[in-house]
Amino acid sequence: MATETRYDQFIDGEFRESTGDEVTDVTYPYTGETWARAPSGTDADVAAAVEAARDAFESAAWNELLPTERSDLLLQIADVCERHGDELGELETRQNGKLLTEMQAGTNGMAEWFRYYASHCRTDEGRVVPVEAKGGDVFNYVRQEPLGVVGGITPWNTPLLLSVFKIAPALATGNTFVHKPSEITPISALRFAELIYEETDLPDGVYNVVAGDGETGAALTNHTDVDKLAFTGGVETGRKVGAAAGRNIVPVTLELGGKSPNIVFPSAEFENAVTGALKGIFAASGQSCMAGSRILVHEEIHEAFVDRFLERAESIELGDPMDPETEMGPLAFDRQWETVREYIDSGVDAGATIRYGGDRPEELPGELFLRPTVLTGVDNEMRIAREEIFGPVATVIPFGSEAEALEIANDTEYGLGAGVWTQDMRQAFRLAERLEAGNVWVNEFRLATWNSPSGGFGDSGIGRENGADALDEYRSAKSVYIDTAGDIPDPFVYSPD
Ligand code: NDP
Repeated sequence: MATETRYDQFIDGEFRESTGDEVTDVTYPYTGETWARAPSGTDADVAAAVEAARDAFESAAWNELLPTERSDLLLQIADVCERHGDELGELETRQNGKLLTEMQAGTNGMAEWFRYYASHCRTDEGRVVPVEAKGGDVFNYVRQEPLGVVGGITPWNTPLLLSVFKIAPALATGNTFVHKPSEITPISALRFAELIYEETDLPDGVYNVVAGDGETGAALTNHTDVDKLAFTGGVETGRKVGAAAGRNIVPVTLELGGKSPNIVFPSAEFENAVTGALKGIFAASGQSCMAGSRILVHEEIHEAFVDRFLERAESIELGDPMDPETEMGPLAFDRQWETVREYIDSGVDAGATIRYGGDRPEELPGELFLRPTVLTGVDNEMRIAREEIFGPVATVIPFGSEAEALEIANDTEYGLGAGVWTQDMRQAFRLAERLEAGNVWVNEFRLATWNSPSGGFGDSGIGRENGADALDEYRSAKSVYIDTAGDIPDPFVYSPD
């Protein structure tokens, strides 16, 4: 592993020393070794980044670009993602300990997000509205204008890809960006900024990164010169970001947690359903907002399903996340490990049974591994079925009918994802309509793509990322009326027309 590297903030097109002395250690969760240090951003760092983004927003170099020119810049960034996807993915694994194969799939995939939104710059068409005022003698058209400076705050579990969900549509619509990544994973964002400024013509100040912790995030959300907040993270932090948006009257998108049901019916292709349930909760060590953490299984097949699920869970290969053979790495940091472990204890206290896992495998290094854990005898009222655990903990809940499955599935504060395993297509359509979740997968689980909207119902969030829907989160419609009659009626005479 490389020697410790000290990073600075990335502001106005270059690395800039923080105004504060505090630093955050970045460690590789597999070994516990510190390999980088990033600044703990101060209010002054945030203010400098916002000022740089504001200046860029107002500069001709950015705001007078034609749509095709902005599109070309996004295509240049896409090429950077492709050239450096493997390097960026490795940095991510070294920060959060998730599998190299998963992190690199994400960082290599980022290019498609930039290409997709680059295509919007080239193909977006305007809108003329047939207004009826003045007997139709008015020409009305709608301008889509950027909001200004976007403050983007992102979590540690899928650091860069989730950030690109925000950066790509924000830049495509002409905004500038100040990014506060998680203190656990600031390095990939800083390196991404460095690369795009080395290898593209992006004007200075359009994308800035301020590393730091929650206080740095709060400084960004409270800054009165930020025009839009785009947040991914937990519900409690989301409430604070939403409150800041309310105080400053700026729009906000909140992509928050989940407690997604994954429902298995007797008609499902059995082995596919077991694999899908396994993928839903143990891929990414369960550290996924979309995790299928509540596995609802019809009582007819419950016993057979649990037996096979346990066999498969026991065979999961834990180990070095850099090794392509490894199927589950460690959890990202000690506080996270302890939280997950506490949830397992709370489940047992409430009457659930640990059928496998729940412990740290002694043969592996460090303190952060947790065996994939399967709990049965779970009731949907238990904390383990209601709160997001964000770890490799599957809770299996039986049901007796489709109506009961729906009731349990929708009995949650969240609404991010839901899976349905069935060969009955009418049942699939019925459930897709009635499940209260922003993403529904039938005979699959945990898919997201650049051209289809993603977001949450309920406490899982506000607004949509990805797809054309995301563009409206970063722009404001302006309605323009132009008189075509050459005749202004007396303003004090009201006619029924
Ligand atoms: P947090 O809410 O703890 O943190 C998210 C980001 O907010 C981090 O950058 C964090 O900084 C920052 N932050 C913390 N406090 C504040 C504050 N007061 N004001 C502004 N920013 C603040 O979430 P986690 O990082 O633990 O991420 C896991 C959560 O993210 C899970 O709930 C998961 O479901 C959710 N998530 C949602 C996704 C979705 O698309 N819906 C996708 C991925 C994750 P720092 O880390 O430095 O403390």
